Amino acid sequence: MYPDLLSTYGDRGNMLILAHRARSRGIPADTHEVFLNEALPAGDIYLLGGGEDGAQALAAQRLLADRGLHRAVDRRAVVFAVCAGYQLMGSSFFAKGAKCEGLGLLDLYSDRGPHRAVGEVGGEVDPKLGLPTLTGFENHGGRTHLGRGVRPLASVKVGIGNDGKTEGAWNGTVLGTYCHGPALSRNPALADLLLRWATGEDNLPALDETWHNRLRNERLTFTGMA
Ligand code: GLN
Repeated sequence: MYPDLLSTYGDRGNMLILAHRARSRGIPADTHEVFLNEALPAGDIYLLGGGEDGAQALAAQRLLADRGLHRAVDRRAVVFAVCAGYQLMGSSFFAKGAKCEGLGLLDLYSDRGPHRAVGEVGGEVDPKLGLPTLTGFENHGGRTHLGRGVRPLASVKVGIGNDGKTEGAWNGTVLGTYCHGPALSRNPALADLLLRWATGEDNLPALDETWHNRLRNERLTFTGMA
């Protein structure tokens, strides 16, 4: 979604990684980059990345007017949203000092923190999801507060995430995180979770994870999470 507005820190790479991991298993994958003036096409997985405050507010206005993402979630399409995109999933967020309406697709809201959260972020993933340690890079001024209708994606061992205690959130097939990096290059098991949700296929064949694991191990060692 909106690679011209929402793709800081290489978040567009998440699309390439998902397509590659699907095709490597013989699952056909068409990718489509949706620009600001386009209506939302039908899809199985929607990706939203990070963005500066102005871009984030503009994206929210367009998505609220379009309502295509709401319809997609109603039919259980998968949404993976990073940082600004993640904040957009909640009921409200702050951009350039103003409170903005979010999409209300996850039971959470974001306000502003005492300082920007910049650096490595990670921790243990919600056991319900069965994934290894989450690792990423964060850069955001907002703090996110979770309601009862979502579960945290992870507990925080390193960095700030939502509020210094938890990081990210998920409910149904909508999942948000503050992890850039892009997130799925450091967390290939998370990529496969999204593919399993989208395809309903629980047994995806294993792939060669040599390069992902080198990156993961380097970052997990660097942050003391190894
Ligand atoms: N503008 C938002 C914030 O600072 C999101 C930033 C981002 O996506 N990196 O909180």
